[in-house]
Amino acid sequence: MDNDKIKNVVIVGGGTAGWITAALLTKTLGKTVNITLVESDKIGIIGVGEATIPAIIHLNNAIGLDEKTFIKETNATIKLGIEFDNWGKLGDSYMHAFGGIGKNFPFCDFHHFWLKAKQIGNASSYWDYSLNYQAAKKNKFDKLKGIEGTNLPGVEYAYHFDAGLYAKLLSKFSQNMGVTRIEGIVNKVNLKNDNGFVRSIVIETGLKIAGDLFIDCTGLKALLIEQTLSTGFEDYSHWLPCDRAIAVPCESVEPITPYTRSTAHEAGWQWRIPLQHRIGNGLVYSSKYMSDEQAKEKLLSQLDGKPLAEPKVIPFKTGIRRKQWHKNVIAIGLSSGFFEPLESTNIHLIQTAVIRLLKFFPHHGIKPMEVTEFNRQSKIESEQMRDFIILHYKLNQRDDSDFWRACQRMEVPKTLTKKMALFAQSGKVFREQDELFTEIAWQQVMIGQNLIPQDYHPIANSLSDEQVSDLMNNLKTLIDRTVDNLPTHEIFLEAL
Ligand SMILES: Cc1cc2nc3c(=O)[nH]c(=O)nc-3n(C[C@H](O)[C@H](O)[C@H](O)COP(=O)(O)OP(=O)(O)OC[C@H]3O[C@@H](n4cnc5c(N)ncnc54)[C@H](O)[C@@H]3O)c2cc1C
Repeated sequence: MDNDKIKNVVIVGGGTAGWITAALLTKTLGKTVNITLVESDKIGIIGVGEATIPAIIHLNNAIGLDEKTFIKETNATIKLGIEFDNWGKLGDSYMHAFGGIGKNFPFCDFHHFWLKAKQIGNASSYWDYSLNYQAAKKNKFDKLKGIEGTNLPGVEYAYHFDAGLYAKLLSKFSQNMGVTRIEGIVNKVNLKNDNGFVRSIVIETGLKIAGDLFIDCTGLKALLIEQTLSTGFEDYSHWLPCDRAIAVPCESVEPITPYTRSTAHEAGWQWRIPLQHRIGNGLVYSSKYMSDEQAKEKLLSQLDGKPLAEPKVIPFKTGIRRKQWHKNVIAIGLSSGFFEPLESTNIHLIQTAVIRLLKFFPHHGIKPMEVTEFNRQSKIESEQMRDFIILHYKLNQRDDSDFWRACQRMEVPKTLTKKMALFAQSGKVFREQDELFTEIAWQQVMIGQNLIPQDYHPIANSLSDEQVSDLMNNLKTLIDRTVDNLPTHEIFLEAL
């Protein structure tokens, strides 16, 4: 394919994707490669993407970014899960809380015992047994590895942060580590005659930047992977029907809640992401069922505080690039595809793409077998996440709008149909190899959106009715007591 040694890596774009890529590559590869990042302040970054999942902690650790600095510099807050309001039926509310629920039993998940307790009329809400949920709703947080005196898991958390400040922090870090930053708009891309690989990019001043490997982090523009190499796009919009968002920050209100809120509305949903200095808000919607004007009006009428900017409309298309790595270009971030932000998966996908790139880094030239394997792994990862997000839309019982009725009727991927059917019949749900979302995540969305299994695992009958009831009561008492003893989220942040 191309046996040239990779010495010069050029990252085009300096949003969250560009700077995470620069920071991780420079931290890991050190002086073995030269890294240049080209970005344009005139174009700017997308400026949304402020909710994460717990794996971000590993990313910051890998970069060497200490938690206190990160929280202070990015005005970050703690995220214990996502509350979903009005998703099953109007008036419903549940949480995809991070971490464990209840107690781990060998060969049989806790929710089977909960289902048994429910059948005998002695279980309260599934989320009464989630430490994360109870802490989130009581606005409590501390770093807790486990519940004292037990082998029950502790609190698992992620962050909400200011995306612009995070990019700045990583930019400073990467440049200190030797990354060269060039400011300018790329307006020409030169290809090699023999194999169509990218040879160089040219910015508006005429400066030519040559490279061996190019990382496309140009966001939804996909300047190299699509506009230049025409790699192709696998469209998911028949499953993920929203195609626009409108975003606006507003003034903060007390308390600063340690969870994201996603409220379904008649043609999509609305996010609420509390940071230390403001609240990020946005409406995600399908342009087939709602106009930009209607979306703007709705969003502005539902803010907790005064808006701090003009609402910004962001059109998007859900789906993934047919190849994440094509010739000598690798797409990372929004240039590689987009699932819509419902489960905060996109920053995580940046993280896993850079880790994959490091594992496959083509020091001795680009080899087809490695590129194929990189693309295969990326595709599997995307499809697993895609199914989990589609589940939220498919599994609704709302009868108040054409949008939700269309979601109920839509045909979903077979992989998802099978998962839902198995759960409905037996309460069983299995995580595919390396799948991001755990069995507990799947259980919460399915139970939260009213898919209650007809049966539970027979192992749950190893406990008598009385023992199951005691188990539920004891767990609930233990979790309530633990949460009562935690400091508030504000106290945790202030202590930093
Ligand atoms: C509505 C919405 C909400 C989201 N919410 C979340 C969330 O809560 N959690 C989450 O994990 N993800 C979320 N995402 C995704 C998240 O925003 C992105 O994954 C993340 O911000 C990375 O974006 P990016 O760096 O790929 O693109 P961008 O931020 O758009 O950066 C693109 C960069 O390329 C540069 N550029 C573009 N063209 C050129 C050119 N010709 N020359 C030079 N430079 C150029 C720009 O200047 C910029 O620096 C959301 C996305 C959307 C659309």
